Amino acid sequence: MKKRVYVDMDNTLCDFRAKVAEINSNSPVPIPYPQSRYGFFSSLEPMPGALEAYDLLEKHFEVYILTAPSYKNPLCYTEKRVWVENHLGIERTINLIICKRKGLLMGDFLIDDYDYPEFEGEQIKIGTTPFLDWKAVLDYLLPLA
Ligand SMILES: [Mg+2]
Repeated sequence: MKKRVYVDMDNTLCDFRAKVAEINSNSPVPIPYPQSRYGFFSSLEPMPGALEAYDLLEKHFEVYILTAPSYKNPLCYTEKRVWVENHLGIERTINLIICKRKGLLMGDFLIDDYDYPEFEGEQIKIGTTPFLDWKAVLDYLLPLA
């Protein structure tokens, strides 16, 4: 049986940080909650190497996309679904889980830039040493499949 991997969206698959910086660079003052704007989530760029990494992970693991919603923005739920279809294809939307409480999900690994100490599997904190980028994540994870 394949091991199960959950993959986060914001700052893991898609570049949330870059979009916030872009919005603020076009404004004289920082915009509070730019993620509440229409089209924010659906227009995020993929993180470097993320889409290729997702393809590769699927060859070796049971993979789900696990994203916590920006729950005060109801558009977020739809736009995350749109993003997955646009960048990973409609079949991958079947494996999209939108859930604020990631610790409820049972699995072996969670690739995420945010800490979820309640997750009972192993967390791979992307963006921090030693998992600075997707290449480092794959180098670690693929031999554990
Ligand atoms: Mg994130």
